[in-house]
Amino acid sequence: MIQFQDVTKSYKRGGSPALNDVSVEIQDGELVFLVGPSGSGKSTFLRMLLRETRPSSGTVTVNGINLAKLRNRKVSKYRRTVGAVFQDFRLLSDKSVERNIGFALEVIGTPRKQVKTRVAEALELVGLEDLAKRKPDQLSGGEQQRVAIARAFVNHPSILIADEPTGNLDPATSQDIMKLLTTINEKDTTVIIATHDAGIVDQMQRRVIELENGDLIRDEAVGSYQVGGDSR
Ligand code: ADP
Repeated sequence: MIQFQDVTKSYKRGGSPALNDVSVEIQDGELVFLVGPSGSGKSTFLRMLLRETRPSSGTVTVNGINLAKLRNRKVSKYRRTVGAVFQDFRLLSDKSVERNIGFALEVIGTPRKQVKTRVAEALELVGLEDLAKRKPDQLSGGEQQRVAIARAFVNHPSILIADEPTGNLDPATSQDIMKLLTTINEKDTTVIIATHDAGIVDQMQRRVIELENGDLIRDEAVGSYQVGGDSR
């Protein structure tokens, strides 16, 4: 479970906070959309879960761990339980698809056979078995995002966060990527998606948490991009 308890984050003293007294709980296995205009605090919210930033006040607890109290030497192990996907894919351009997916496992000394099995499984999940040897610049945007999703999933994280995962993709490809994130959610992964894509949020009818100027202004179990809205 993820718990934000009275979480405030001020990057600059005296400036308006990026998150302002946010309290929310997300249960294991949920799929949640995080919406709100640019600058509303969505990325800050997600970065808290990666423990890339810490609250100025309040507590973020993930699977029983208070992230502010997590010792530095335990941070990398914790981060393996949280997969992350971004708008700009963030692949290693000089490495093949399969090495991009397996790299994080290699770095921590996972036996080669296990890396191979895990990478094959992740490639199959995203449907890119035939492109394993290609480099990222030989792939379409949608394919690159699939690689990024495979890489995020290869460790079987309990949480997958996606920051504008369809921001650089056309509508049809965006739908495919959402389908894939739904499939991962069905494999007992909590999925949190920050997005501006109203069409997708309206179509999926899932939980929606809305931020505005750092305030949590809406939390609906079955929601649209805008209050009472449906852009279909
Ligand atoms: P969103 O993802 O919704 O666009 P962000 O979390 O990126 O929102 O930003 C929320 C606010 O925090 C914005 O006012 C932004 O300028 C500020 N902010 C974000 N990151 C930093 C940072 N590293 N240093 C200073 N201010 C930041």
